[in-house]
Amino acid sequence: MGKVRDVVITRRTGFCYGVREAIDYAKTAAAEGKPTHTLGQVVHNEGVIEQLEAQGIRTVASLDEVHEGAAVVIRAHGVTPEVMERAKTRGLEVIDGTCTWVIQEQRALARLVDEGYTIVLLGTPRHPEVVGLLGFAPGAIVVDEEEDWGRIPRTKRIALISQSTQPPWKFEKLAAYLVGRCHELKIVNTICPVTIRRQQDTMEAAAAVDHMVVVGGRSSANTKELTRLCRIAGTPVVQIESPADLQDPDLFGDAEVVGVTGGTSTPIEDLQAVTRRIYELAGTPEVRARAAELADASLRRVADSTYRTSSVPSGAAPAEG
Ligand code: SF4
Repeated sequence: MGKVRDVVITRRTGFCYGVREAIDYAKTAAAEGKPTHTLGQVVHNEGVIEQLEAQGIRTVASLDEVHEGAAVVIRAHGVTPEVMERAKTRGLEVIDGTCTWVIQEQRALARLVDEGYTIVLLGTPRHPEVVGLLGFAPGAIVVDEEEDWGRIPRTKRIALISQSTQPPWKFEKLAAYLVGRCHELKIVNTICPVTIRRQQDTMEAAAAVDHMVVVGGRSSANTKELTRLCRIAGTPVVQIESPADLQDPDLFGDAEVVGVTGGTSTPIEDLQAVTRRIYELAGTPEVRARAAELADASLRRVADSTYRTSSVPSGAAPAEG
């Protein structure tokens, strides 16, 4: 018999503003009747990609797949200046959905190159954002886990910068490590505030509930970090991609209150669906019977103008405020 009586969605979840804007650009272009493409998946979420396809928006892996005159949306991660240039010279309508925060990172990198620093970029080597950033600083040394750090040469002037979604603790640790490897260290903190706030909210929720569920892509670094933080808080946690991943009611043990959070590419509707699934799977008999209604209420508690970072499509959620 399930014991869950309440499921709490954390504040400030859903798409981050960068992802939301890129999606909105694509939808607007398609609604205006333009043949619309996104260069790479605009968000790593199959449900959203299917929705976009239904609106005529195609995901392409290369600019060669886009015919002249058609619109191509650059996703929030950004691209190298060469890709941008190539799209323009091919006569495509470029709709730049690069997140404003990522644009700031790109500009900061270009400045550091001009200033002659050896650049250390904390990031996941083949992540699209990092690939795009390297277009502004081809000589940057990309490092991720601590075992990579020995590759950084001892040199006079180092500048440290980060991919937007790296965990702050790792950035701080790398900064401390670099102090001993150079004479002058310049630190440009480009970790996105959305990432930081989401981690804070997740930690807060984890401290207040009996069990956490983290929803997001298995390979998403910012999702994995949320799971790690829940463990640090000492709260049992499971990381899933969709409600279908929750099959075992025993997973929640004696938990009465469960928290749900998600990565920056996880739509808030997915959190609502997971909430409903938890109620149905592990709820008390009373809440099981009202699972859909209670999941709606859980979403309403956070889907207001203060906390919502997701463009919930009209009709998908009864948003207030
Ligand atoms: S995580 Fe931050 S930097 Fe990255 S796309 Fe979202 S808002 Fe922009």
